[in-house]
Amino acid sequence: MAKKQFKAESKRLLDLMVNSIYTHKEIFLREILSNASDAIDKLCYVSLTDDHVGMSRGDFKIEINVDKDARTITVSDNGIGMDRDDLEHNLGVIASSGSYQFRQEADPGADVDIIGQFGVGFYSAFMVAQDITVRSKKYGAEQAYCWQSSGADGYTVSECGKDGVGTDVIMHLKDDTEEERYGEYLDPYRLYSLVKKYSDYIRYPIRMVMPAQKRKEGRPDDQPEYEQVEEMTTVNSMVPLWQRKRSEVSDEEYQKFYQDLVHDFDKPARILTASVEGAVTYKALLFVPGKRPLNFYTEDFKKGLQLYSAGVMIMDKCDALLPDYLRFVRGVVDSPDLSLNISRELLQHDRQLKVIAGNLEKKIRADLEKYLKEDREGYEQFYANYGRQIGYGIVGEGGEARRDALENLLMFYSSTEKKLVTLREYADRMSEEQKCIYYAAGESVAALDLLPQTELLKDKHYEILYLTGEADEFVVQALQKYADKPFRSIVDGDLELGDEEEKVDDEKPEVMKFIKEVLGDKIKEARVSRRLKTHPVCMTAGEGFSFEMEKYFKNFQMPTPVKAERILELNAGHPVFKALESAMGSDRDKAERYVKILYNQALLIAGLPLEDPGEYTDMVAQLMQ
Ligand code: ADP
Repeated sequence: MAKKQFKAESKRLLDLMVNSIYTHKEIFLREILSNASDAIDKLCYVSLTDDHVGMSRGDFKIEINVDKDARTITVSDNGIGMDRDDLEHNLGVIASSGSYQFRQEADPGADVDIIGQFGVGFYSAFMVAQDITVRSKKYGAEQAYCWQSSGADGYTVSECGKDGVGTDVIMHLKDDTEEERYGEYLDPYRLYSLVKKYSDYIRYPIRMVMPAQKRKEGRPDDQPEYEQVEEMTTVNSMVPLWQRKRSEVSDEEYQKFYQDLVHDFDKPARILTASVEGAVTYKALLFVPGKRPLNFYTEDFKKGLQLYSAGVMIMDKCDALLPDYLRFVRGVVDSPDLSLNISRELLQHDRQLKVIAGNLEKKIRADLEKYLKEDREGYEQFYANYGRQIGYGIVGEGGEARRDALENLLMFYSSTEKKLVTLREYADRMSEEQKCIYYAAGESVAALDLLPQTELLKDKHYEILYLTGEADEFVVQALQKYADKPFRSIVDGDLELGDEEEKVDDEKPEVMKFIKEVLGDKIKEARVSRRLKTHPVCMTAGEGFSFEMEKYFKNFQMPTPVKAERILELNAGHPVFKALESAMGSDRDKAERYVKILYNQALLIAGLPLEDPGEYTDMVAQLMQ
């Protein structure tokens, strides 16, 4: 029979796998067992609604059989099975997602770590096997098929005989070499320890023949004799991790579980467990990943928690369990209260599920508060990854109800502390006379720190929050105040300093009128600044939209463009202002040019685009001649 070739990327991966110096070759067993368990999950799910399956929860099992002479390990399951197409598609090509390629592009240096990370699990068996035979009969099919391959040179699929539904994966181990004793995997104790180590929480019995001591019959009690027998034994404890008490599970076990679930080789930042009995009963095991997945802000990323009902997985990513802003949380929820037979669509609206979701949301928030309190550095790392999400929680759908709960999780860069601070810290530091919480929104801390508008506040040693996150300004606007102090942008409107500095003796109405005439609709008004100290000019926004919002919405096709009101503020004590005043008396053309230059400078400082950069540079050049 002609061999079919693996798809190109599978082949590359296979080479990698076979020739890798990967130190954890032993994980192949975990991968094969987890596939078997998934296949049983699938049939188990079908059996809930389809009487023809003829099996109940207790009938499902996985068996490991060893043939020392033939050097084979066979893993058999009575799960959903595969037909010819499945064998071709599932084993002939790497789990369709193309994630291997994705990973390679994202991080070309990465090689062997991809094992198990992107659904390449089955191939890991080639690390220890010289050839693999998969015999499988799909549920509902008459014919069984046999897939065979000895690695990179391709595979064959043919018809074969097989009694029950399910799959046998027969791995023919490689010959032992100087460096590697593949034969060790034929040792039942070695296999036993691998099952315990990696697959103990699999919810179906993993059975294998184990040597056991048995008391000989017919011997008196005080003189027992034992014989060595071989017994089919269930090796795994089958109790899923989330069903066990937190105190009985080691961090390492949680970590391993997390790594399998999320396909992340790093540690989770947070591990949360919940065990609730009462109006609703459920157990939950949740994780906050330590890193933000590369695809987090793409459509590829699907939020949701794995949902089980009494040990049977009913949904892989149940999104109704998490509000959008907490979409980074991963994990498992198991509740015997959920009806297994209800459709997935209806389940999303299930009342019980809503109660669980509400509880989990509170639990996660409480844990984040604890995180911030107990591990500042860790929390800042978390904030770098997911801080944006906290903001979305406040401005997004239903955010109003969450404001109080989320405001204390926010962090912003502080002008005085030169690091991220919380609103609580800011409020605690505020002096008696300070009336507002001051902020400036923009692209970078460095640019914000140079804004002329910061001068007066810096003089008074007031702290300014520099908002550099895309939605930060919307967040503080949604909050309106914190600890009864209103938020106030330093570039918009009145600073409410309420003292001498804000008083202006002379409003210079003549000059302001002239400026407005020259600039027309470009500005709402011109006025003498209350906040500039050494800079000649700045632009502030009037009521309504801020400049940052204008910039933000520029990227969207808005029916009416979002535009902030422009108010030109001038420093009447600055020599430039004096120059303008005197030009108005002597040379109006020159005075007009001055006004335009000042206007353009104010735009530049505010990070707003110039309407006519050519005209501006010409005018500056003219000044220099
Ligand atoms: P993953 O399990 O991460 O999807 P694998 O390479 O391990 O990636 O397996 C590829 C696919 O092959 C699985 O998604 C599944 O559809 C199928 N498969 C593997 N083993 C079995 C099995 N024992 N029974 C049924 N299907 C299987």
